[in-house]
Amino acid sequence: MKPDTLVEVKNLKKYFNVGNDKILKAVDDVSFSIKKGETLGLVGESGCGKTTCGRTILGMYEATGGQAIFEGKNIYEMNKSEKKAFRKNAQIIFQDPYASLNPRMTVGDIISEGMNNFKMYSESDKQNRIYELLRLVGLNKEHAGRFPHEFSGGQRQRIGIARCLAIDPKFIVCDEPISALDVSIQAQIVNLLITLQNEFDLTYLFIAHDLSMVKHISDRVGVMYLGCMVELASSDELYRNPQHPYTQALLSAIPIPNPSYERSKKRIALEGEVPSPINPEPGCRFRARCKYVKPICSKENPYLKEISSGHYAACHLL
Ligand code: SF4
Repeated sequence: MKPDTLVEVKNLKKYFNVGNDKILKAVDDVSFSIKKGETLGLVGESGCGKTTCGRTILGMYEATGGQAIFEGKNIYEMNKSEKKAFRKNAQIIFQDPYASLNPRMTVGDIISEGMNNFKMYSESDKQNRIYELLRLVGLNKEHAGRFPHEFSGGQRQRIGIARCLAIDPKFIVCDEPISALDVSIQAQIVNLLITLQNEFDLTYLFIAHDLSMVKHISDRVGVMYLGCMVELASSDELYRNPQHPYTQALLSAIPIPNPSYERSKKRIALEGEVPSPINPEPGCRFRARCKYVKPICSKENPYLKEISSGHYAACHLL
């Protein structure tokens, strides 16, 4: 593990037994690392395993195999006190701000819950900390006594971010934090996350299916398809020079705010059924939808390999 790496995921697997000898391979042999202060975007269609991956890294799901290493320690082998420290250092911002806040608690109580659990502040310091956190996320101290239903979707996500920041985490899994919000609010939340990252040297795993927003916030981006990482590169490189046929199709669907370019742009339609992640057959999982499919694609699983400096892809063509 390099000294500037905060999180390293090695051959991570998360399978669910769905009965009748059926195994759903939600995350299947995924590896990547995240540097301190970096944002790694994780994208893919719904059901590709990105959320399960993020939650398994946090220990919310028990891994079926592989490792998730935080500051040099495998989180699945941590002792009790190490786990407690990890829970403080690694937090999550949930997708749905409506469902993730307890409607019977005031905003102040919601934000202070973590501080209480970790016995971080005296009562008077805690109050000041709540006000400070509200200010940081663009709310004000009068909001501390109100209940979640009194806020808009964007404001509720700001409360969720304040709750997450309250215990000074180092690593945050942002699990589709903007998907449930209006487009007009999405950019505000992404910009807030960038500002907070710069101020507190935070490290993010930013999970999303909106590729244009992911580009804006991410230093590097990983693309997942049916439980596997199919491409990983710096944000600029991936958007400029996508190599995997699935990434190319995803990116071709993003609208560009340039009418003449939009008219001339070729969209790559994703054809064929999305295969089931239950008991997947050997070979490339994208082959049913890939227009470049070759005989080897149904026999051998393509592994993620470095095709140019820092640019990885899993495809037999490359
Ligand atoms: Fe297409 Fe084969 Fe590459 Fe898979 S390995 S993306 S099926 S060419």
